Amino acid sequence: MNYLDARAIHARLGANGWREVLLAAGINEKFLRNKHGPCPVCGGSDRFRFDNKNGRGDWICNRCGAGDGFKLLMGAFGLRFQDARRKVLELARITEASDVRMEPRPVEEEIAKPTRRVLQLIRETCAIEDCEPVRRYMKSRALWPLPSGHSLRAHTSVEYWEERKSVGRFPALVAAVRDKYGELVTVHVTYLEPEGRKLEGYEPRKILSSMRGREGCAVPLMPHGETLGIAEGIETALSAAIMHEVPTWAALNTSLLAKFEPPKNVKKLIIFADRDIAGLEAATKLMERLQGRVQMEIRTPKSKDWNDALRSAS
Ligand SMILES: [Zn+2]
Repeated sequence: MNYLDARAIHARLGANGWREVLLAAGINEKFLRNKHGPCPVCGGSDRFRFDNKNGRGDWICNRCGAGDGFKLLMGAFGLRFQDARRKVLELARITEASDVRMEPRPVEEEIAKPTRRVLQLIRETCAIEDCEPVRRYMKSRALWPLPSGHSLRAHTSVEYWEERKSVGRFPALVAAVRDKYGELVTVHVTYLEPEGRKLEGYEPRKILSSMRGREGCAVPLMPHGETLGIAEGIETALSAAIMHEVPTWAALNTSLLAKFEPPKNVKKLIIFADRDIAGLEAATKLMERLQGRVQMEIRTPKSKDWNDALRSAS
């Protein structure tokens, strides 16, 4: 039997299939309109709208962020991805045996899964608006307000572990890292000082759990169309997105950049490289790897990275 991942199910449902599935699952029709109203996950009165922008059951909430039909079911009914996925297959009467386009997924025990700590941390996050140190940090990077529909979250106090000892709790920017199937792998955390500077005295950036066996991971920072940008760091990706008006994701480091796997519907990939040897090498490796599969272009900033470029321009 072939395993259908999120992307394959989106393809099967087509642009209009999600609405029916969400209705059948018990999401009230009043939520499934491209008009501001209450959020089926977090309530309120006008913070949510269902725009089905990419034909994936897409929605935006000022409080919970944005996502696809799976994420809506997960939030509204408290389901894990696998349960939401089963529900969708059942409601849309999709059988897994007949899909031939799927790539085989690595066997379960070879691949890393998000740890309990990662899942709990994600549950405890809040909107960046609600976490002043993170908002200040973004502002100091000329990244405030953030592009609409972004997936970044904040946490008021993430424990920092070093050599199995906790050294304290700090506010942090939290970014979900997903594999090429769109499934959660781990989180990337940027620890901050309460005043909004990067944490001093320790490495401020951490990936919290193993990514073993999960190829092509990245931080899917924002929704995209046929053109997608990919950059190294989160701040540099956001800066490139703002300066070039191209939805851009963050690969997090040069080794992940070289292994990045763009979503299947992407026709053009713009690689926003850092202007240093490691950055340019990784961009070249990525370009060689994806040659013939997608149209590509490398852009480099005048400064060291795109955030420097953005800040010197503003
Ligand atoms: Zn909400």
